[in-house]
Amino acid sequence: MSSIFTRIINGEIPAYKVAEDENFLAFLDINPLAKGHTLVIPKKEVDYIFDIEDPLYAGLFEFAKKVAKGIKAVVPCTKIGVTVIGLEVPHAHIHLIPIYSIYDMDFSRPKLKFSSDEFAGIAKEISANII
Ligand code: AMP
Repeated sequence: MSSIFTRIINGEIPAYKVAEDENFLAFLDINPLAKGHTLVIPKKEVDYIFDIEDPLYAGLFEFAKKVAKGIKAVVPCTKIGVTVIGLEVPHAHIHLIPIYSIYDMDFSRPKLKFSSDEFAGIAKEISANII
C-alpha cells in the first residue's frame, strides 16, 4: 500500500505544498511544532532515509536547503532546525523547523493548531520566497 506521502504526491489527499520539482516535494507538517514546520520528501517512496540511493539522497538535501531559505525569509527564528525521525510515516522525510532554542525541536511538546486558511497562507508565503 502506498504511504500517506505518496498519496499526497499523487493528489489523492490534500497538503499545503510549498515547493515541488520532478523528484522532490515540500509541504507543511499538519501537526507543526512551529509556524512554517515543513516536510521535504523524495517522490520515490523509500522508508529509511539512508536507503535512498545517490545522487537522489544528495538532491533531497539540496532541495531542503532551498526550502529552508524560503522558510527563514518568512518566519522569524534564529535558524531552521533539521531533523529526521521517520517513526510515524514510512516514507523518508526531512523536518525543517524554525527554532530559537533546542526546546523548539522537542517533538514531545504540544503541536500548534492553524486554520486551513492560515496553513494555506503560510505555504503560499514560503513558496513565494523560494528561489
Ligand atoms: P515521523 O515519521 O516521526 O518523522 O513523523 C511524521 C510527521 O508527518 C509528523 O510530524 C506528522 O505530523 C506529519 N504528517 C503525517 N501525516 C501528514 C499529512 N497528511 N500532512 C502533513 N503532515 C503529516
